[in-house]
Amino acid sequence: MNIDPTKLDALKGLLKKPHVNSLCIWCTVCVSVTSGEYFNLDGDGLSTVSHCDKYDQELVDDAIASCPVHAISWQPCDKTGKYPDGITEHEDVT
Ligand code: SF4
Repeated sequence: MNIDPTKLDALKGLLKKPHVNSLCIWCTVCVSVTSGEYFNLDGDGLSTVSHCDKYDQELVDDAIASCPVHAISWQPCDKTGKYPDGITEHEDVT
């Protein structure tokens, strides 16, 4: 039986969402790969992650693999979509 990994994480209480760090060069690939659903471009020339209740694992993984500067990663989040420990978007997390 195949279980959607995002649902499985939610069942375990482990929610996650994509994160973009400061390496972003505003190439728009992540926006195109996800059809504008999860990423958009802000006024600072960096991609930002849209808040969604659920992210398609495969689509985001494709965006992660396609980013030329490896600026995208999965990070844990709470139910409101906030990253833990005060992590903010465009911060360089590991
Ligand atoms: S693919 Fe990477 S470098 Fe390009 S806009 Fe998205 S996060 Fe930025």
